Amino acid sequence: MITDSYGRTISYLRLAVTDRCNLRCTYCMPEEGLNWLPRNELMTYEEMLRICSLFVKMGVEKIRVTGGEPFVRKGLLSFLKSISRIPGLKELTLTTNGLLTAPLVPELKKIGIKSVNLSLDTLDNDRFTQIAHRNGLDKVLSTMDKLLEYGIKVKINTVVMENRNIDDIIPLVQLTKALPVSVRFIEEMPFNGKSREVSLSWNYLHILDHIREHFPSIGKATDPPHATAYHYTIPGHKGDVGIIAAYTRLFCGSCNRVRITPTGVVRTCLYDAGKLNLKDALREGKTNEELKLLITDAILKKTLDGWEAQHMLVAQHREHESMASIGG
Ligand code: SAM
Ligand code: SF4
Repeated sequence: MITDSYGRTISYLRLAVTDRCNLRCTYCMPEEGLNWLPRNELMTYEEMLRICSLFVKMGVEKIRVTGGEPFVRKGLLSFLKSISRIPGLKELTLTTNGLLTAPLVPELKKIGIKSVNLSLDTLDNDRFTQIAHRNGLDKVLSTMDKLLEYGIKVKINTVVMENRNIDDIIPLVQLTKALPVSVRFIEEMPFNGKSREVSLSWNYLHILDHIREHFPSIGKATDPPHATAYHYTIPGHKGDVGIIAAYTRLFCGSCNRVRITPTGVVRTCLYDAGKLNLKDALREGKTNEELKLLITDAILKKTLDGWEAQHMLVAQHREHESMASIGG
């Protein structure tokens, strides 16, 4: 078990397999896209598998594969298969924008994936194009249908943005009436690859008030341990609603996660800069025991919360990052 200096045990690893993407969501990256990382700076699948196996040996029970868009990286399914076979791993999940995912759902089911986070900020075609700078709503919706058809749990991630998708909040909550999906509204974070300016007028309280105006019977549900979302249910709805105070950072006290960026940097907080590069350490020929010591040391330096981490990021002038290069 790896524990940080505040007594938080790390049991959840989020691995970004690429920084590349087939969308350009405005809150994540510039419309022209980023300067994609050169191939040799990305970890290979073999390197990622070795790192994941090490983390599982050190107590990680759940791995989420994310990006960038994980499915734009060739060979992802074989990689997922290999990860799913790591002895001791209890849960393998994915976050995807759903554009390329629908035809692969039967394979994901075979691999044993039980839950997928699907990003969906709007149910309106024009707004989808305005937000993502590409078309694709039909494909995302068919991925959602396919996942449900195959009995894979669907959690929808919706970033709430003033002047962009406020009109979608209620229609997205309405989805939960007939469908057994969790719709989670996320406060926008300052990781759009260009500026740190985000409007937080739609913080978690505002989002909840807005939903409550339309669904007065909404009630608080129990939150699972380490959850980042506050969970709510509406009587008569098959699905449920979550609100993630990602900017307000109310969940740091129970954080159990660590991230690995596509270049192999360990980020013990979404808001921190990350000092340890595991890819470099692997390529220098470090043994597993040496890597474990490096990882333990990095986790011990995990900051108290995302505010402390962000102060350090700003001090290093590293604040203009994209969520795609961190791994959302
Ligand atoms: N491409 C995949 C997708 O969109 O689902 C996986 C990577 S994406 C970076 C992971 C999640 O981060 C998505 O659900 C996305 O909505 C969220 N995200 C990206 N930028 C964000 C931001 N600035 N604030 C809040 N959430 C963000
Ligand atoms: Fe791509 Fe996901 Fe970022 Fe959107 S949020 S640009 S889909 S990586």
